[in-house]
Amino acid sequence: MGSGSSKRGKGPAAAATTGGNGNGNADDRNSATLSVASSLAGGGGGGGGGNGNGDDDDTNSATLSVASSLSRGSDSSCSSGDGESHGGGGGGEPMWASQQVFSSTTSLSGGGGLGCVRCSICKAATRPTPIPRGCCCRGDSVMAHLACALQLAIDAEERDGDWHGWLECRTCKARFTGAMQHGLALEWWARVAANSEADEHRLGAAGNLADSHRNQGNYAEAAGLEEELLAVLKRVCGEEHLDTLAAAGNLAITYACQGKHAEATRLQEDELEVRKRVQGEEHPDSLETAGNLAASHCDQGNLAAAAQLQEVVLAAKKRVLGEQHRSTLATAGGLGNTLLLQGKHAAAEELLRATLQQQTLVLGADHDLRLYTATTLGQALSALGRHGEAEALLRETQGRLKFHRGGAAQATLRASSVLGQALVARGGERARAGAVKEGSALLAKTHAKQEALFPGHAETRRSAARLEALRSRRGESS
Ligand SMILES: [Zn+2]
Ligand SMILES: [Zn+2]
Repeated sequence: MGSGSSKRGKGPAAAATTGGNGNGNADDRNSATLSVASSLAGGGGGGGGGNGNGDDDDTNSATLSVASSLSRGSDSSCSSGDGESHGGGGGGEPMWASQQVFSSTTSLSGGGGLGCVRCSICKAATRPTPIPRGCCCRGDSVMAHLACALQLAIDAEERDGDWHGWLECRTCKARFTGAMQHGLALEWWARVAANSEADEHRLGAAGNLADSHRNQGNYAEAAGLEEELLAVLKRVCGEEHLDTLAAAGNLAITYACQGKHAEATRLQEDELEVRKRVQGEEHPDSLETAGNLAASHCDQGNLAAAAQLQEVVLAAKKRVLGEQHRSTLATAGGLGNTLLLQGKHAAAEELLRATLQQQTLVLGADHDLRLYTATTLGQALSALGRHGEAEALLRETQGRLKFHRGGAAQATLRASSVLGQALVARGGERARAGAVKEGSALLAKTHAKQEALFPGHAETRRSAARLEALRSRRGESS
């Protein structure tokens, strides 16, 4: 690391900051970035990494956006897609670079299929096909070669000792998501895995890789890394160190994804107790932890407890972070989901619509968190009998998720299941009788995938309930 690094003292220091961008958990939970990784910014930065007002930096967003747009013309140098066989342009491209997590042939329902794309870094459209940067630049739709982003991260680290290139976009400061996050995380880990277990770089890379594995749905890999990380941090830093707390909080999120709700809740309650004492009740990290705990209550069906906590957290985040902070907007989306599950459809719709509007402005149309909210809003509209609106919103959202996250991602399957239910509901309209058939087929197919990929996940149980309701309506035995 260069001398320009602003790392404080020895090892992990100061607040483990939240990623703050709902990075890919595809719901309202926020995982935390260990301070070892977030305190390394060369220069500036001040108040800790992505937390607080990490969004409102006004860096020149013009720099990267220029050549990044999807070229719609007839550039014959790039065909429609799958950069598999020709290793051509990429040179020593890492093995995983070709494992695209999205299908480049899926077109978004809003029209404007993707055709060919240029790398926002090297400006070329040569193979391998650039992948989404997964940050908030241009509404998450900017593309780049993984190898180019990798080189940027390596350069920044060698030049200024700045590790942020492994985690987040230099332009918009949002953490990468999807294939970009995963490719960078694997490479960073590969470079430092052999270091000693308490090495800052290794700790930061391990936490980041675990986060990415969780976002990819690789929960077992994520939990394995996080359990090890938590043990090391407890030993090296102590039980109440902020990095230890952040690691515990991240492990809790993974446990929740695995359906281990009791373990998740216990970890979160302990974490919250310590944070309130050490950092204060309204510290952003305490609020984040409380929000995650509320999501666990919701997963376990304790809807009243979830809603009560989410209302308190939302009010505090508005005060402390501001109305438009993405963490505030994440909690608003989570509360909307709880209200929906409570059957308070009108209240849910009102909150979700306002949240969606803000998230579109702040995060862009394709951000995970916005797509999570859009799915929930679609479900609320369907429950209110506004079938046309619900179907249009859900089809569009499912299309975006399929493109950006792939058909097997947790968030995509959630959208498919909700769309299936909405189609079945719409079948009550005489002109749309065919929708019942399409909807029930989609529901059944989606649920089978969820059972195979995400057993125990709260969304898998919700989709089971949808299927069950459909079958009992038809008078089938299940
Ligand atoms: Zn490139
Ligand atoms: Zn960006």
